[in-house]
Amino acid sequence: MSKLMVLSLILSALLVFNIIYLSAAELQLFQHAAKADGSLSLLVLGDWGRKGAYNQSQVALQMGIIGEKLDIDFIISTGDNFYDDGLTGVDDPAFYESFTKIYTAPSLQKQWYCVLGNHDYRGDVEAQLSPVLREMDSKWLCLRSFIVDTEIADFFFVDTTPFVDKYFTEKDHNYDWSGVTPRQSYLLNLLKDLDKSLKESTAKWKIVVGHHTIKSAGHHGNTQELNSQLLPILLENDVDLYINGHDHCLEHISSSESPLQFLTSGGGSKAWRGDVDWWDPKEMKFYFDGQGFMSVEITQTQVDIVFYDVSGFVLHKWSRNKQLHSTF
Ligand SMILES: [Zn+2]
Repeated sequence: MSKLMVLSLILSALLVFNIIYLSAAELQLFQHAAKADGSLSLLVLGDWGRKGAYNQSQVALQMGIIGEKLDIDFIISTGDNFYDDGLTGVDDPAFYESFTKIYTAPSLQKQWYCVLGNHDYRGDVEAQLSPVLREMDSKWLCLRSFIVDTEIADFFFVDTTPFVDKYFTEKDHNYDWSGVTPRQSYLLNLLKDLDKSLKESTAKWKIVVGHHTIKSAGHHGNTQELNSQLLPILLENDVDLYINGHDHCLEHISSSESPLQFLTSGGGSKAWRGDVDWWDPKEMKFYFDGQGFMSVEITQTQVDIVFYDVSGFVLHKWSRNKQLHSTF
């Protein structure tokens, strides 16, 4: 082999490496300072945007009261932000009517970190991600996948809708897949970036948020694609909580196989579907078919989860204690 050929092979290899390296986009990272004492509190809401209907406004009212009481730092939306078909564009009045006009309590004027749900994918996805909405209402922030670093806890937001096979074959609805094609490389890159970020995380608590269920006894049940593709990464990286919406209920499932807890907060508006599957009572800590929301309080040694109904009544509480320097 001539020197020239060797040189050209090396150059080609470098070029390929660069292309692969540059295409592996990292997840966007946001810093959100915890309280002065290092603790953090937040609310989690899902499946909500119905212009106040189906008790959306009543849930919002109670969120305002609990948010004040807990002095919350931010709010998480688990997706299906606007029914039935997302937003039609940045000028869709549903953004004001289902979000700005509804969550008016002073305590809710904090940063909202939102993921997209399957209903959001039926509209103009780019509109929800657009900085134009952030200018219209500064508490809004929605991206496909991203990380919020609070030092005490890292939150990994995952775009779960493109994982679900049936949305790519069903004929009843149109989905806006611009930005997620080619699908396989989109999903592979996302999983790779998530795994890498989880491994690099030094936070005491690791929390993953997505729209779709991993484990659920509700109408939609388990999401098989996430069970096979996402769950192994969460288990390998000692994730503490997986938080989702999609099933319009409040739910807490634990597992004997790992400390990972599965928490559904999808009661932002329309609920009471009525079809609940049987689940092993050892794993099913709590199931509520109706409307409501969840709070999360975090310190260096403890996480406290509370579920509330539409009247602000406490339905279920769960805590985990992790001693300093210990790992599970
Ligand atoms: Zn959904």
